[in-house]
Amino acid sequence: MKDNGITEVPAFLDHIQKEEEAEATVEATVHKDFERQIPAFLQDTLSNAELDAFLNHLSGCPACEDELSIQYLVYAGMPRLETGETFNLQRELHDYVALENQRLHRRRELAAAAFLLELGAMAAVALGYLFLL
Ligand SMILES: [Zn+2]
Repeated sequence: MKDNGITEVPAFLDHIQKEEEAEATVEATVHKDFERQIPAFLQDTLSNAELDAFLNHLSGCPACEDELSIQYLVYAGMPRLETGETFNLQRELHDYVALENQRLHRRRELAAAAFLLELGAMAAVALGYLFLL
């Protein structure tokens, strides 16, 4: 039977669709990971790398920003509904995200400073050996 090429088309379309599905799965995983990290984020227990990825994703994903707002409402808002305290959750959350950004930068600086100190200590030890020789 002569191959007229038409049978190739569905296979090609199928391939495209599979790729799209795979991409959608990766996307969904990213959002799922974000969602799962929200409680740790609100308790400030994420590692620097996790926090970095979290904040990066947050700044570019309105859907996850909404999810964070909802969880923040439950996390910070509900206890205070009972006490009748007035609050502006959107602003508080905004402030908290800014604070976490600052913390991440400060921790990075500290890590860099510790690394330099260690380098300096190693250099001192090396120099000490040189003088002993
Ligand atoms: Zn997202």
